[in-house]
Amino acid sequence: MDESAIIDRRLAQEQGTLRGHGRRAVALVYPSPYPVGMASLGYQAVYGILNALPDTVAERAFLHDEDVQPGRAPLVTYESKRPVSDFSMIAFSVAYEIEMMGLFTCMNRMGVPALREERREHDPWIIMGGPLTFSNPVPLGPFADVIVMGESEGLLSTLVDAVFSGAPKHATLRALADKPGFYVPSIHGEWMPPVAAASDDLLPARSSIVTPESALKNMFLVETERGCSRGCTFCVMRRSTNGGMRVVPVERILATIPDAASRVGLVGAAVSDHPRIVQIINAIVDGGREIGLSSLRADRLTPEFVGGLVRGGYRTLTIASDAASERMRDEMQKRIREKHLLRAAELARDCGMQQLKNYMMIGVPGETDADLDELIAFSQRQAEIAGPRVRVSLGIAPFVAKRNTPLDGTRFVGVREAERRLDKLRDGLHPRVEVRPTSARWAWAEYQLAQGGFAAGLAALQAHRDGGAFAAWKRAFKHLEPVTTPSARVGT
Ligand code: SF4
Repeated sequence: MDESAIIDRRLAQEQGTLRGHGRRAVALVYPSPYPVGMASLGYQAVYGILNALPDTVAERAFLHDEDVQPGRAPLVTYESKRPVSDFSMIAFSVAYEIEMMGLFTCMNRMGVPALREERREHDPWIIMGGPLTFSNPVPLGPFADVIVMGESEGLLSTLVDAVFSGAPKHATLRALADKPGFYVPSIHGEWMPPVAAASDDLLPARSSIVTPESALKNMFLVETERGCSRGCTFCVMRRSTNGGMRVVPVERILATIPDAASRVGLVGAAVSDHPRIVQIINAIVDGGREIGLSSLRADRLTPEFVGGLVRGGYRTLTIASDAASERMRDEMQKRIREKHLLRAAELARDCGMQQLKNYMMIGVPGETDADLDELIAFSQRQAEIAGPRVRVSLGIAPFVAKRNTPLDGTRFVGVREAERRLDKLRDGLHPRVEVRPTSARWAWAEYQLAQGGFAAGLAALQAHRDGGAFAAWKRAFKHLEPVTTPSARVGT
């Protein structure tokens, strides 16, 4: 099927598509395929906000689907099938480091030079924003005219007014660079301004469109809180970011849910920390709707909480233990105890869950084989408690240090060492507990960008031009700092 037919099919299935009219046209590009972009609450919220601005229309475009070969066809928007390069303002939402590959592919298809210094005055404005700006957007610097830092709700009107003001680009950039929340790499260099915080009056973010082809099928998304009050030392959403957790009142959350929504996804950095989370779940489920939540803190779970989730069709209890042992969790200030994780297994069993997923990292600074041995023994015990009807799995990611966290600057454990630790876990846990790791190689690539600056962004572009395989990444990053090589057995 060609791309145009896919777009037609998807538009026909969507509820809530916005078809605005206005002289100020913005293309909103998600550098991953449609199912991923439509499951992003931030992307959906920005689409709604831009279309509500006076004389403004925002249209969506996505990285092509994996099974589609777009050839030389230009990237077009969904709403009008206009080429994205026809828009004066093109805004990318970037969630994580490796998504830069999708961004370069989209720019190739747009026919707009990726490098800012190769673009001319009449080329479209290239704006970037999204979750990556909370940690390290500096590698985006050689490609973006403006990067919107952090929570964009309160900044979008100012940005669109500036871009469409008709003033010369350099003067507009100068004016934006002096305003909080706007990172202008051509002026600020590698110094990134602090992230912006939106007014609490603008919360909660919510979906504009509900669609069966979202990764979160037919789910209306709404934010229950923003930020987090806790202090995990690896996390960019910890309490030092934008003043900690801002709770959205229950009534306001429930009032946003459209009558037609049959599935509701609650979104936030720390959804289970909402003081009235059980009441929210029960209100949604009692209204005959299914429910979805991102990962939960095990110390917040109760029979009422987990029972409500099961009534709402939830079958996989997903919790974050984050580190291999009690000692490591203490060092990372995770403040989850083994007893909470074991209690989660009991609740999964007693409430009728089918699966228990633990998310965690390996290779955190200070981790030793003794911590992994503890994880193996603990996971077997957890599986025993969960019983034969509950599948238990470990979703494991090699640790990557992020900017704006206390662990910033700590070194990557090394690809070979990460793989050795994963093999040890697989051997120790087979067959009762499934180990589902993310790639150690791509974690290394993520680390290069998470800790890098402009040079890392340029190296990523080179890797993309060389085909984007891991070997191309190794070549491109060979001479850059930080100097961890993919094969290094680097201690911490
Ligand atoms: S890991 Fe979770 S609980 Fe810890 S600071 Fe981040 S969002 Fe909060």
